[in-house]
Amino acid sequence: MTRLLIEGARAVTLNGAMDVLDADILIEGGRIAALIGRGDPAPEVDARLDARGLVCIPGLVQTHVHLCQSLFRNLADDLVLKDWLERRIWPFEGALTAETMALSAEFGLAELVRSGTTTILDMGTVHHTDAVGQMVARSGIRAFIGKAMMDEGDTIPASLFERREDSVRESLALAARWHGAEGGRIQYAFCPRFAMSCSTRLLEEVGEIVASEGYILHTHANETVWEVQESRRRWQTTNIGHLHDVGITGPRAVLAHGVHLDESERQILAETDTCVTHCPSSNLKLASGIANIPLLWAAGVRVGLGTDGAPCNNNLDAFHEMRLAALLQKPFHGPTSMPAARVLQMATIDGARVLGLEDRIGSIEVGKDADLVLLDLNQPHHGVGGAAAERLGGDLYARIVYSAVASDVRHVFAAGQHLVEGGQALRHDAERLQAHGAEALGQIADALDR
Ligand SMILES: [Zn+2]
Repeated sequence: MTRLLIEGARAVTLNGAMDVLDADILIEGGRIAALIGRGDPAPEVDARLDARGLVCIPGLVQTHVHLCQSLFRNLADDLVLKDWLERRIWPFEGALTAETMALSAEFGLAELVRSGTTTILDMGTVHHTDAVGQMVARSGIRAFIGKAMMDEGDTIPASLFERREDSVRESLALAARWHGAEGGRIQYAFCPRFAMSCSTRLLEEVGEIVASEGYILHTHANETVWEVQESRRRWQTTNIGHLHDVGITGPRAVLAHGVHLDESERQILAETDTCVTHCPSSNLKLASGIANIPLLWAAGVRVGLGTDGAPCNNNLDAFHEMRLAALLQKPFHGPTSMPAARVLQMATIDGARVLGLEDRIGSIEVGKDADLVLLDLNQPHHGVGGAAAERLGGDLYARIVYSAVASDVRHVFAAGQHLVEGGQALRHDAERLQAHGAEALGQIADALDR
């Protein structure tokens, strides 16, 4: 078994004590085998990585993305959500083939991995989820994948509409193929798209399957005012009330957005231990609103961070998202409401807790999987670090959350696999992606012209 020693970095561990350690990190068998203080005897190893001057953080965790939409970046802008979905994204998704889906997934994965994200909870579209799984397997990222389920709604294009029985059958078949694949690196999540695109019976069936089999359940909820009004009209209750009635709440449920929640809904989320993913860029770009994260935290709700899909952000970069999440709450809740360290927790250990993976990832601790990101914070845009900066009140977390950018990422490991080396993604070829991307968009345009 190869033993790799990452030497000389400063480790921002995100452990329970929030230790920041000058320690070398020994990786063996995909795990963190030891944290070795400077001056302690050096272990025998097969390989060494010189990380002097770099800062090591846990791999970033995003609990809401859509790899299937990465090809549609900058093709659906400045629209309200309903038009964004019905006029652009749904027809685009419906026009994907297995080949163009694989390319879309790879576009997203190339950016995610390059910018330090090592775990994702992905929602696919209705078809071609195997192609997403294949690209996830090849990329080395840790992922929950799942096909979107949609069996109700007049505005769903025929290319995406499915019968409830078919939706459940295909989801179960995909779960059988992908849950636990690649040594457990890939897991399956059941993904009813949102309450308005799913029949009550479908949601009830999904709720039952998830409750008995322990899968993650991933859906969108309370993103827009329209959804809030529509749930009153259709079910005479709140959207969260409806989801709760049909069994779509609980500790394995991850609801993207939670922008418009009333007190009764927050109470249901807290009592059922249901999780929320905060997607601030998406919520701003689609003018959906601003989720009240301090209030969710105060209620004891687990909250992760996600960039959502490329066409509603238009980045998949968790550093952008952390900075925005921190800044966005301050005018409403004060400058101390979202401190940088708390936001980095949201994008690491809290994300791991949302996915039930807190024993394996989310912090740099012996025994956990080696999901690690090495950052070069010695650039002019970071100012000056070190002991003098700390004596003057400088905060390493602030440098990571407020100043760091994706290009500061030098190395990325997921489950001990070296995915980015010296700033270069090892498993993705940007030039090839561009060339094939243009071809793929041509095919989609042709399909939609017909
Ligand atoms: Zn989404």
